[in-house]
Amino acid sequence: MPEANSLHIYNSLTRKKELFTPLNPPFVGLYVCGPTVYSDVHLGNVRSFLTFDVVYRYLTFLGYNVRYVRNITDVGHLLDDNDEGEDKIEKRARLEKIEPMEIVQKYTNGFHSTVNQFNLIPPSIEPTATGHIVEQIEMVQRILKNGLAYEINGSVYFDVKKYAEEHNYGELSGRKLDELLEQTREELEGGDEKRFFADFAIWKKASDDTIMKWDSPWGTGVPGWHLECSVMSTKYLGQEFDIHGGGMDLKFPHHECEIAQSVGADGITPVKYWMHGNMLTVNGTKMSKSLGNSFLPEELIAGDHPLLEKGYSPMVVRFFFLQANYKSTVDFSNEALQAAEKGLKRLMEAIDTLKKLAPTDKSSIQIDALIEKSNDSMNDDFNTPMTIAHLFDGVKMINSVNDGNDSINTSDLERLQNHYNTFVFDILGLQSENSESSNDDLSGELMELIINLRNQSKENKDWGTADLIRDELKKLKISIKDSKDTSTWNYEE
Ligand code: ZN
Repeated sequence: MPEANSLHIYNSLTRKKELFTPLNPPFVGLYVCGPTVYSDVHLGNVRSFLTFDVVYRYLTFLGYNVRYVRNITDVGHLLDDNDEGEDKIEKRARLEKIEPMEIVQKYTNGFHSTVNQFNLIPPSIEPTATGHIVEQIEMVQRILKNGLAYEINGSVYFDVKKYAEEHNYGELSGRKLDELLEQTREELEGGDEKRFFADFAIWKKASDDTIMKWDSPWGTGVPGWHLECSVMSTKYLGQEFDIHGGGMDLKFPHHECEIAQSVGADGITPVKYWMHGNMLTVNGTKMSKSLGNSFLPEELIAGDHPLLEKGYSPMVVRFFFLQANYKSTVDFSNEALQAAEKGLKRLMEAIDTLKKLAPTDKSSIQIDALIEKSNDSMNDDFNTPMTIAHLFDGVKMINSVNDGNDSINTSDLERLQNHYNTFVFDILGLQSENSESSNDDLSGELMELIINLRNQSKENKDWGTADLIRDELKKLKISIKDSKDTSTWNYEE
């Protein structure tokens, strides 16, 4: 059982920072909207998933038993938020002339390998929409039974007007129905089959040439996109669960509709804390394909884009994202990324130094405040930029001890090492970049192999090969020194 904590979370629903009190401690349910797997994962998505990776890591650090569910949308996400247009995956399948399920597999694999590069921990459960069609049909039936949906021409729509008579539709996004009406009046003149402009499809009739479709009491069709998250979150986390996360762009209509569906089907408000991550911009402008300023994670890593001066490693990008609050926009620029690169290097060097520090009898530095401040900043709605700032205050202390200007005793040294390992590697999820130590091990083993081969040549009186090895190593600035029985090697200065 975790000790009482002082974690506060900004709840998008109440628009306040609230003390985190899980519904059934030590269990915590965390649901995050996953990708629609019809194209390569966008950098903005990576940032959003990274935010909840840190949430998951920190809750685990606090001692909670977190069940983390992140779905894969593999059907039902239409091109248009207004329940029109083709399914995104089917459209892509048609363009690439392959099966929709091949598209799903291809981009699911791609998504996994990308988030893996950024050191995201996989969720506890990764359910798919196509794997939960039965449950989705059942939820539509419950909503219909409660009189909050209607069937028309083989599709079923959620009756927002009826729902709004007793419930606050718009409570999450802050949108008001009458304001929405003004905004969308023009869009309505297209002979829509919905009764009311804000109604949304929970089941959509499939056309004859649709490949992915299922039988239902209303004919052949596909579930509405918003429905899968309502079904899968409550199936695995309970009808009411702790945290639901996603990108800011999902707040409306997706998350607003999720609340309405759960309340409409079961009369239960599904989520206690709603969390939303903010967007990415590039040199101050919104990142978008049409503006030509959007790049894929792979392009960013390789530096393969006209806007990029060079490539940046996944850990530099991870560190760069964590230097901003998840609720703020992050602006990409070469300058900012290069600063992050330098900062990360400094932090990792300090951790290497920390490993080698020699303790003395007394400490001249105060580490209690440092540790407390790092905890406080994470407890303040996962404030990673502030936490990183405190870690850099500690870097100054580490370097000062290393330079002989300060001292640290054995127990403080252990606590400080423990603190950096926990915060940098476990909670912030950073990794040592060039993992120097493992490179050193490998170099040592390779050199032993080469020296053995050379000794073998000498024993065989093959002086030509022995000299060739020595001369070639010299070109790599590695010198070999022969003594009577052994040979040693060195990097030349
Ligand atoms: Zn969702």
